[in-house]
Amino acid sequence: MDQQSLERIALLEAENERTEMEMNAEVETQGQNQTESVTQPCQRAKRVRKKQRALCWDEFTSVGIEEDGKERARCHHCGIKLVVEKSYGTSTMNRHLTLCPERPQPETRPKYDHKVDREMTSEIIIYHDMPFRYVEYEKVRARDKFLNPDCKPICRQTVALDVFKRFEIEKAKLIDVFAKHNGRVCLTADLWSSRSTVTGYICVTSHYIDESWRLNNKILAFCDLKPPHNGEEIAKKVYDCLKEWGLEKKILTITLDNASANTSMQTILKHRLQSGNGLLCGGKFLHVRCCAHILNLIVQAGLELASGLLENIRESVKFVKASESLNCRRHRRTFC
Ligand SMILES: [Zn+2]
Repeated sequence: MDQQSLERIALLEAENERTEMEMNAEVETQGQNQTESVTQPCQRAKRVRKKQRALCWDEFTSVGIEEDGKERARCHHCGIKLVVEKSYGTSTMNRHLTLCPERPQPETRPKYDHKVDREMTSEIIIYHDMPFRYVEYEKVRARDKFLNPDCKPICRQTVALDVFKRFEIEKAKLIDVFAKHNGRVCLTADLWSSRSTVTGYICVTSHYIDESWRLNNKILAFCDLKPPHNGEEIAKKVYDCLKEWGLEKKILTITLDNASANTSMQTILKHRLQSGNGLLCGGKFLHVRCCAHILNLIVQAGLELASGLLENIRESVKFVKASESLNCRRHRRTFC
C-alpha cells in the first residue's frame, strides 16, 4: 500500500467515528426527552394522588401520635379525638361524621318548581282577596328573588288565568258534591245597587249539612244583574244559577229580605221549581223572610224617632273629646 492509500483509510475511519459519536449523542438526547416525557406524567399523577385525600379529612385535623403511641385526629365540629388506624382507613372518621351531633346538616332546599309557584300564588290571591297586580309589586318580586334566585316572575294576566282555572276546578268539585248530596239545600239571596255606578248586584249562597253533620256555606253566584230588577228577571237569574249547579230539585227554602220584587220573584221561582216536582209540600215552606232584615227595619224606625236626641249626644261626645283641658286632666289622672 502506498502512502496516499493509508491516509485515505485513516480519514474514512475518523469520519466513521465522528458519525457514530453524533448518532450516539442523538440517541442519548432522544432518550432523555423520552425519559422526561415519561417522568412528567408520573410526577403529575403523583401530585394528583397527593391531592386525592379522603374527604373526611376536610372535617378532621390530625393531632399526631399521643403518649399511648396511637395517632389521633380531632373532629372540627364536636372536638372529639378518634384513633386513626392505618389498617382500617378512614371508616372510623366517616362513621363519626354520620353521627356527629354538632355537624351542620346539608341544605335540603327543594328545587324551584314554576308550576307549584303559580298554583301557590293563585291561592294567595284567592285566600287573601288580593288584586291580580299583587304579583307585579316591585317589593314582592324583590323578596321572591331573595328567597329563591331561580324564581321566575309571574304577570297579572297569567295569575288571572290561574285563578279562573282554579275556580273551574273547584266548581266541578262542588257540582260533584251536590250531585252526591242526598239532603236538601237552603238558599239565601241578596240584591243591592252600587251607589256610584247604579249597577245592580246579586249574591246567591247555598247552605247545607253534609254527611258529617257540618253546616256548609257556598256562594253559588256573585254577579251583576242587568235592569230591570223586577221579580221576573231575578227569578230567571236564580233559576239559571240552580240549573248550572244541578240543584233545581234539591231546594228546601230561600231566604229573602222584604223588598216587593223579592216577593214576586219567589212566586215565579216556586212555580218553576214546582213544575219539575222539585219542592217539598208543594213549596209551602220555600219563602223565608229574613228576620235580621225585619229587626233592622224595626231598629231603624225606632232610631228615627230619637234622631234629634242622638245628634245632641254625638255632638257632646265630640266636644268632650276635643276639649284640651279635660284631656289634660284625664291624662294627669292616668299617669299620677
Ligand atoms: Zn364530631
